[in-house]
Amino acid sequence: MHLYDGVRYLKGIGEQRAKQLEKLDILTVYDLISWFPRSYEDRSVVRWLSELGDGESACVRAVVVSTPIVSRIRKGMNLTRFRIADDSGSAEVTFFNQPYVKNNLSVGMRYTFYGRFQKNGNRLGLLNPTFERIEAEGKKTGRIVPVYRLTAGITQRALTDAIAQALENCAGELRDLLPEETVQRFGLMGIREAYRSIHWPQTLQEALRARERLVFEELFVLAAALGSLKGERKKASGYPIPGEDGSAFAAALPFTLTGAQQRAIREALGDMASGRAMNRLVQGDVGSGKTMVAAACIHAVCRAGYQAAFMAPTELLADQHFQTFSRLLEPLGVRVVLLKGSMGAKGKREAREKLALGEAGLAVGTHALLSEGVEFQNLALAVTDEQHRFGVRQRAALAAKTAAPPHILVMSATPIPRTLALILYGDLDVSVIDELPPGRQKVETYAVEESMRPRIERFISRLVEEGRQVYVVCPMIEEGEEDVQDLRSAAEVYEQLRTEVFPQYRLGLLHGKMKASDKEAVMAAFVSGEIQILVSTTVVEVGVDVPNAALMVVENADRFGLSQLHQLRGRVGRGKHKSYCILFKGKGGGVSSERLDALVRENDGFRISEEDLRLRGPGDFFGSRQHGLPTLHIADLAASLDVLKEAQAEAARLLEADPGLERHPALKERVAAVLRGAENG
Ligand code: ADP
Ligand code: MG
Repeated sequence: MHLYDGVRYLKGIGEQRAKQLEKLDILTVYDLISWFPRSYEDRSVVRWLSELGDGESACVRAVVVSTPIVSRIRKGMNLTRFRIADDSGSAEVTFFNQPYVKNNLSVGMRYTFYGRFQKNGNRLGLLNPTFERIEAEGKKTGRIVPVYRLTAGITQRALTDAIAQALENCAGELRDLLPEETVQRFGLMGIREAYRSIHWPQTLQEALRARERLVFEELFVLAAALGSLKGERKKASGYPIPGEDGSAFAAALPFTLTGAQQRAIREALGDMASGRAMNRLVQGDVGSGKTMVAAACIHAVCRAGYQAAFMAPTELLADQHFQTFSRLLEPLGVRVVLLKGSMGAKGKREAREKLALGEAGLAVGTHALLSEGVEFQNLALAVTDEQHRFGVRQRAALAAKTAAPPHILVMSATPIPRTLALILYGDLDVSVIDELPPGRQKVETYAVEESMRPRIERFISRLVEEGRQVYVVCPMIEEGEEDVQDLRSAAEVYEQLRTEVFPQYRLGLLHGKMKASDKEAVMAAFVSGEIQILVSTTVVEVGVDVPNAALMVVENADRFGLSQLHQLRGRVGRGKHKSYCILFKGKGGGVSSERLDALVRENDGFRISEEDLRLRGPGDFFGSRQHGLPTLHIADLAASLDVLKEAQAEAARLLEADPGLERHPALKERVAAVLRGAENG
């Protein structure tokens, strides 16, 4: 049996079990030993019966003092009972529906039992324990035992046995993917020891060290994969777009570009002039004017006789960008077409023809633009908006689509702390727009108690009477959470506002479970001003532009991440009207109140994201986001930031010395597998 053989080679794994394991993505022996314990049970300490309390889990060494008796309590149900004793006391053991255990036990013999004790008055009981003969102790009892995540049909015991067997036979074949000097520098465990220790640690301390080592390796491999991707792209030749400095574009604008915009444009144009393919992320707070950077690049590409594609995450955003780009670029001689799923067949055909014939320079659409078999005459630039929905996988797919890889520009308003950006965008160069266009008004922000609601309702009324529009955002309620007190769903809030509070106004409801076309229709009605008050879940989070919206009300603001709230706030203050953000505090208290205060004080998205990171850890950045990274088995990216930085530095060092990983064949192979996984997964 070898490391990369199928699990069927293991004793006890038949066709059925193999199928069940497949559900966990466990195909090979290697996959199996890489199925790391979810937790451990410390069965290493042996206790006295007399010292055990109700609900305690423990090991005891005890003699069976009465003959096991099986009794039927109901049809199909039986109990096996007997007593055990040690020098301190005794207990009654009960097995439920396991009559065969009486054959494995002999009166007068000593066993080690492990299980959860119940104490009722003076009577100590033990239900369904694990046990071994004392002489054989050390497998299931008397040590630290792994606890695995399971799937239907596979028991803890079966999985434990299979993994132990796999380790025994194949651990020797494991190769260290980390360079020796890295292992030395960080005092890490060797790979074979790490695998043994994570499954069967002598102490919990040892398990931790093993985990540390495996986390390091996993992040190192990921960093090496992204790094080598970046290296390859750096070498890949791209369409040369020479001699552009963006001045013709800038001159056509009704305003002066900010210094940060100019810098980002210069960096992007520099990439495209270099003869290599650009892979650049433009990161900037909501409203920082990222679209101008895209427009400048599109303009340059079209002037050089090539085509560009701009992809937005929703049709509504595609519509908006279509208008923006048409207004901006048509006067500069760039023909713009819109291409989206909901268009009629005729419109689609015409747009496609224009693209295939090279009559149109820019196609604006949703991400489906590239997958729907649209032919370009000479696509040289692909721009995507809202990066977090466009991961490594999609980037790889896109690069594979055209003969020479097109230049890629991605834009993100998700302010991500630098450390996290490093790994999420490890294969991209980054431009940061850290400056807002002049004259931008601060959105006045208040965190308020429930008692303020009547006043807020009057305030909403006043703004609507003045002709403004209002967002009311409610947290998403997870399934099984419906009974959470005081947490009202968007639908409930909508009903109440519509029938009781603001029956005189036009309200709309938007939530994630609606059909895409219905969502678009509601959003369009809000954009056109037909809907005055829009009640929604966080679906409005992504860059929709409604300059007339001047108030963002957030219900149960304590249920949101700070950065998310900041994004929501960015939906208002986009026009000439004084704008406000009202955060209903909910019941959070404590930390959450402190968080909301940070938002009231602070307007800078990057600073807020750092504050968020400090206050509640980085889980939020990864929680629900589709970040398009390969699946990690062991590392929780969010919880391993420091390790991530170290692993990244080590990987960079290695790639510097050995860019093709030729001298590290085992690592090279694994990196290739990770990248394949990122494409398929
Ligand atoms: P975002 O970075 O959120 O995508 P946009 O590109 O949509 O921001 O820009 C937000 C608004 O600011 C748009 O209405 C845009 O026309 C305007 N804008 C962009 N750059 C400038 C600038 N340098 N001066 C003034 N207004 C600008
Ligand atoms: Mg935008």
